[in-house]
Amino acid sequence: MTRDRICVIPGEDAAAEAVMHVLGLMKALDTGLDWHVCENTSAIGEDGRPQLAAEAKAAIDSSRATLFGATGGPNAAALFYLRWGKQTFANVRPTRWSAGMPSPLAKPEGIDLAIVRENLEDAYVLIEGDLAQLAPLKLRSRTAGIGPEAMGEGAFSVKAITREGSLRVARFAFELARQRKATGGAGRVTASAKYNMQPRTDGLFIECAREVANDFADIDFDVLIVDDCAHRIVRDPQRFDVLLLPNLYGDILSDAAAGLTGGLGLAASGCYGGDYAYFESAHGTAPDIAGKGIVNPVATLLSAAMLLDYCDRAPIASALRDAIDRLHADGRVLTPDVGGIASTAQVCDAILEHMQI
Ligand code: ATP
Repeated sequence: MTRDRICVIPGEDAAAEAVMHVLGLMKALDTGLDWHVCENTSAIGEDGRPQLAAEAKAAIDSSRATLFGATGGPNAAALFYLRWGKQTFANVRPTRWSAGMPSPLAKPEGIDLAIVRENLEDAYVLIEGDLAQLAPLKLRSRTAGIGPEAMGEGAFSVKAITREGSLRVARFAFELARQRKATGGAGRVTASAKYNMQPRTDGLFIECAREVANDFADIDFDVLIVDDCAHRIVRDPQRFDVLLLPNLYGDILSDAAAGLTGGLGLAASGCYGGDYAYFESAHGTAPDIAGKGIVNPVATLLSAAMLLDYCDRAPIASALRDAIDRLHADGRVLTPDVGGIASTAQVCDAILEHMQI
């Protein structure tokens, strides 16, 4: 097996602490991966603005994949490069209930879904401005009957959804459903968006999902309006297998799904492109618990397990997931967010012990 190089960008605050503990655990395992830590990813460009440091770009480019913490700003250039520079268009956020974890549901057993979130388009193109700027376009609201500039002082945001972007993420979701079916998954893709209110943008997204569904006769397909989808995620999460969503809905609903299965401290995430992938927990930097040594490392560990799968090390990934399940079922060594009193370091040590059982 090739000794792949992995770039590690810890990011900031408690998320960075989680990454460094997870790195320690990875190094203790025989992964055959070379981990290259890149602490400073930001440089000041000639225009005086922050930009991606050349060494960080080289570290990302020369690696097979990146393990990323989270950023509230200082590592934003690296994140933007990992996402838009590397065209990592599909964000997979799995939600699986592990016995022993807290849940607001009476019966969380059997929750095992994967949200596939389009990762590059929608409101995340980040084009915003004043409503007055739209006047030359002579747009007219189909509901209010007036142009946006006539609504008074305010702002707009562009939501851009392309045909190509929607088709490729839909294809990714169906391929994932097929992979999951091979190991006992239901073999279903549910696509969801607000296509009734936004027929051009969300409508296009759903139309593309329908088109792709025709090429996957072995995978069931259904469509939900996104508010109904939110309701069903809470009422009947076990009905979902792969849930395909545009960027913003995917971001929001994946946090909601995480809340059903133990919270953000367990929420993993992987972002995949045609020839690159990066992995980060779904949570942010968690600044409120920085320096306390209590950040739950499991979200980052499960993201690292996705990285191991991506780098053809599925048996180690699977052993890691099993050890985390044993840790949760045992219940003695847990961080405070999931009802325990243990530190990040103690949890990592306990997982390592569970791997050696
Ligand atoms: P950001 O602006 O970077 O998104 P945030 O604080 O708004 O930061 P999160 O970092 O996602 O958002 O944190 C939301 C809450 O969940 C915080 O109270 C945080 O402490 C908690 N939290 C997030 N991740 C973890 C974790 N791994 N372990 C324990 N608590 C966590």
